[in-house]
Amino acid sequence: MTTQRGDTTLTALGTDRPELSFVIPAHNEEGNILETLKRVSAKAQELVTTAEIIVVDDGSADETVAKVKSADVPTPVVLLRLSRNFGKEQAIMAGLERATGQAVVILDADLQEPLRYVDTMMEHYRDGYEMVYAVRENREDESFAKRNLTKAFYRMMSVGSKFTVPEDARDFRLMDRAVVEALLDLPERNRFMKGLYGWVGFRSIAIPVVLEKRKEGETKFGFRGLFSHAFTGLTSFTSWPLRVWTLIGGILALFSILYAVWITIRTLIWGADVPGWSTLTVAVFFLGGIQLISIGVLGEYLGRIFTEVKGRPGYIVAEEILAGDHEAAKDA
Ligand code: UDP
Ligand code: MG
Repeated sequence: MTTQRGDTTLTALGTDRPELSFVIPAHNEEGNILETLKRVSAKAQELVTTAEIIVVDDGSADETVAKVKSADVPTPVVLLRLSRNFGKEQAIMAGLERATGQAVVILDADLQEPLRYVDTMMEHYRDGYEMVYAVRENREDESFAKRNLTKAFYRMMSVGSKFTVPEDARDFRLMDRAVVEALLDLPERNRFMKGLYGWVGFRSIAIPVVLEKRKEGETKFGFRGLFSHAFTGLTSFTSWPLRVWTLIGGILALFSILYAVWITIRTLIWGADVPGWSTLTVAVFFLGGIQLISIGVLGEYLGRIFTEVKGRPGYIVAEEILAGDHEAAKDA
């Protein structure tokens, strides 16, 4: 199946855009998804007259798909089943691509993000903000190492950057259609969403949120995953890691010239002494290390170019299933 931009696939939902779309990426969320749908649907009815819920099943190996199919909620639900696990960022993109709403809210499937914040998001939206994003208040439950590494990461991201990637911002956010269209227009496949939200700009405002504990199951993002995610972020939004080697090389060259001058003078005055094998060994290892690191950094960027150049789609939608109440939506 091909995926189409929201405004060309309106058939299932009538011709008008719903006021609000919820995009929910879900990977092995059988224990949460029904409760999530129930609460989101209730919230939608409370806030607007027309809404839709897009659930993106990101290659779940459990009963997530069956659970969504069986969902008995008064809001139309569109389930996109991706052909395998493509990762949260791609699942979000798949959902945004399919969403037709005038405004879109991205939300996790695990009930960690209390829905009451959507009220605040709507208020700001009605006040004219085009993007309202949640910033996490409490990080106390995370380890000291994780908190500090995250901090360091945001610092490195902001070096030489013209836009900011807000610290601790979540994917949990409301976006106006204009922002969604801007995100969909970006051709890159390796997506670091947190950076892209900042990159597209628009009138944005942060709201602090206190997250709840995950209801069922456990987090899908371990340390290794976060590290690779951080590399994606750095290589797609910064180029200083490439440039830094020019600087290091320059400084090293300068020092070696000074050292050469010193050795020459010393030899002229005191004559040649015992060969400095230790200096040599240290210099060889040091330079070898520096060169390998710089080649590694180059490799990171090259790897990204490689995946972009292949031009494969970021995700594949295997199936689109309708659930929830699509009739009610048409009558409304
Ligand atoms: N998720 C996904 N694909 C993945 C991993 C996660 O769609 O490969 C979804 C997951 O189902 C949840 C959201 O992304 O709705 C956030 O995941 P999780 O709760 O594991 O992350 P955390 O809250 O710990 O950052
Ligand atoms: Mg979570």
